[in-house]
Amino acid sequence: MQAECVLDVRCGLGEGPVWDERGGLLYWVDIMAGRVHRWAPASGLVETMEAGEPVGAVALCEGGGLVCAVQSGFAVAERFGGELRRLASYEGASAEIRMNDGKCDSAGRFWAGTMAFDFRPGAGALYRLDPDGGVARVLEGVTISNGMDWSADGTRMYYVDTPKRTVDVFDFDAETGAISNRRAVVEIPEEAGWPDGMTLDAEGRIWVALWGGGAVRCYSREGKLEDVIEVAAPQTTSCCFGGEDLGVLYIT
Ligand code: CA
Repeated sequence: MQAECVLDVRCGLGEGPVWDERGGLLYWVDIMAGRVHRWAPASGLVETMEAGEPVGAVALCEGGGLVCAVQSGFAVAERFGGELRRLASYEGASAEIRMNDGKCDSAGRFWAGTMAFDFRPGAGALYRLDPDGGVARVLEGVTISNGMDWSADGTRMYYVDTPKRTVDVFDFDAETGAISNRRAVVEIPEEAGWPDGMTLDAEGRIWVALWGGGAVRCYSREGKLEDVIEVAAPQTTSCCFGGEDLGVLYIT
């Protein structure tokens, strides 16, 4: 399969697509530019808001706003384009570190990880913003925090630390948000690029974007390669399902 370019938006580092089924909108970030974009495929309207600093990821709030993983911490906008209000900083925040990929779990916890601007090995971490506003530092020694997604039954969390060239899986406790028993489920061969953002489909298959690979690869739950979608952009960063019946894979 070959991906089709639906929006030639020319981001510097387009990342973190999120589908909003309520509004039929696709959100994504342009990390280094500090911008959050959204697009309505039905009308073609593109809107942009400025985060004022590098923004690694966004997630949707029930009330209609957005929670953002910005370089210096977590922030919330009550509505798209509205003022960003700081919720929390995180342990290890500095001018050399920025937030990278993030996503919300089924209980409304917002997970986001960090990396060093100079890609220094082990300088990043994975954080969890809980609904009570507390921030937990969940994983240490991460280099380029990416991924992530959860199985539909809420028992597994998938995660990527890009230089490891693997998609890893944890046992996940949906009740407490605890993760344990990390192991690799997919190994990406050198010639295919680097694993970056990913999503799961309804059958639990793993769709992983390949930075430097110009592709999204689909793997079975057991880690067997099932499909390759070619993307006419070598730096393929992430993907999510969207559209009316979630039948479209949007790729940044
Ligand atoms: Ca990424």
